[in-house]
Amino acid sequence: MEDILNANARAVLEVLRANTRHPTAQEVYDEVRRARPHIGLATVYRILRQLAEQKMIKVWGYGSESARYDACTHRHDHACCTECGALLDVPVEVVLSHAELEKAARATGIEMGSHEVRIYGRCQDCQAKSKKARLT
Ligand SMILES: [Zn+2]
Ligand SMILES: [Zn+2]
Repeated sequence: MEDILNANARAVLEVLRANTRHPTAQEVYDEVRRARPHIGLATVYRILRQLAEQKMIKVWGYGSESARYDACTHRHDHACCTECGALLDVPVEVVLSHAELEKAARATGIEMGSHEVRIYGRCQDCQAKSKKARLT
């Protein structure tokens, strides 16, 4: 699959694989421009859309300006910082029984395809910042 990608698409994918903070399109653009200075933001958007269509990446917050892109396509959970918006992969498996999930899905009338657990709070950077602010 990957060998059919052009150099721009490969560069975008590399940026996503190296960045575990789920960058926005703008952040991907800023990063990829270092390797490919002539790439445009519109091209980056188009590549991200194509990679998502080919299921090579995942998109969180689809269709919004603040959508974030994830090179990790297997099922995993996320923790979201309510202060800076950082989206982090949860490195441990959060286990929920299939029966519980089915019950929750049925209650909403949704035929369950996949699921995700999301944890909200303040990330380490933001915790450190507020600690510093308290000291000064
Ligand atoms: Zn944060
Ligand atoms: Zn992720």
